[in-house]
Amino acid sequence: MTLRTIESLGPLAGKRVVVRCDLNVPLKDGSITDDGRVRASVPTLEALTGQGARVIVVSHLGRPDGAPDPKYSLAPVAARLGELLDAPVAFASDTVGPDAASKVEHLADREVLVLENLRFNAGETAKDDEARAAFAGELAAFADAVVSDGFGVVHRKQASVFDLEQLRPSAAGLLIAAELEVLDRLTENPERPYTVVLGGSKVSDKLGVIAHLLPRVDALLIGGGMLFTFLAAQGHKVGSSLLEEDQIETVRGYLAEARERGVEIVLPTDVVVAERFAADAEHVVAPADAIEDTAFGASGLGLDIGPDTAAAFAEKIRGSKTVFWNGPMGVFELAPFAAGTREVAQALTEVDGLSVVGGGDSAAAVRQLGFADDAFGHISTGGGASLEFLEGKKLPGLEVLGWQ
Ligand code: ADP
Ligand code: MG
Repeated sequence: MTLRTIESLGPLAGKRVVVRCDLNVPLKDGSITDDGRVRASVPTLEALTGQGARVIVVSHLGRPDGAPDPKYSLAPVAARLGELLDAPVAFASDTVGPDAASKVEHLADREVLVLENLRFNAGETAKDDEARAAFAGELAAFADAVVSDGFGVVHRKQASVFDLEQLRPSAAGLLIAAELEVLDRLTENPERPYTVVLGGSKVSDKLGVIAHLLPRVDALLIGGGMLFTFLAAQGHKVGSSLLEEDQIETVRGYLAEARERGVEIVLPTDVVVAERFAADAEHVVAPADAIEDTAFGASGLGLDIGPDTAAAFAEKIRGSKTVFWNGPMGVFELAPFAAGTREVAQALTEVDGLSVVGGGDSAAAVRQLGFADDAFGHISTGGGASLEFLEGKKLPGLEVLGWQ
């Protein structure tokens, strides 16, 4: 691992350190519904205040339009951070404006200040290099050093992730280091058998991962919305389930490649088929090759893997030494279609080896289903970032920290 560490920045007592965190948490009516990313940011912040640094936290929240929008204020997140740090946390009502400037000016050693949402400023996500660099320059004016710790955004070429780090001495925080240590074990020398479980709804996004992983894994289990494209590739009808027709040929290619390489692609043998997309919809279990033979005919919707499939997946997972799981097995948000996801999550907690959950919805699913974070080897705070890493892509926010 070649990342520059916090130690490489030298003594930080009395120094102003801008820390790019990923505090992009789900909010409902102004309250945080999953504070996983705030908790994950704490170790780095404590390490810095422990050294006597003056800590200035920056983050984005949601997708505001490059201008202030109270709906996306970081104020509740700053409050939650104060509770977790068990210390007062100051909050500036702008990012690089007069309030931020004055609060940075008066920040004392060991104090923490959170600036308002980075994305209230169009420069943060600007495609134009100069606009981005100009905003990064305004942030840099607050910083003697920069620590990048927002793993969820390292695949983004954005001002606070990519440009700022090049303007001041910069290093990776403890969260990024921890995430990469785990993902590295998945890409470099995974203990075998190595099983990857894929689901969720972003089918075409995730096919790139399959191409990259096929040469590395022993088994690939396919559930969630993407399973229907695989069933269609085998010539089965899938009713009105999620289907990416233009990917069917690609998927046939993967099936053929897997056969040649001796990699097992495990597809569902049964599926929960619903009359419509709703929690109170009528539903039945159907064989995977007869989805249209239920009473719902061609309008039937596959919304979860069936019980036989879930049991088979669970057995495969429990017998593995390394498991990476991304993407819920079904529409877990609706109780009748959460069983497959629950059983797969349960099996991951029983792995004698390394189990990793990656992906925003997957992480939310396991917490919503009542699993504790430490029941898994690791829950990645980055969905897109961890997938792009596993695909072997170069991530701009890591390259500026010396990652090769
Ligand atoms: P992640 O955020 O973990 O990477 P995705 O964003 O790809 O996962 O997908 C999550 C979504 O996939 C969930 O909202 C879930 O309801 C949906 N999903 C899972 N299975 C199905 C299915 N059979 N049909 C439609 N949507 C599904
Ligand atoms: Mg998602």
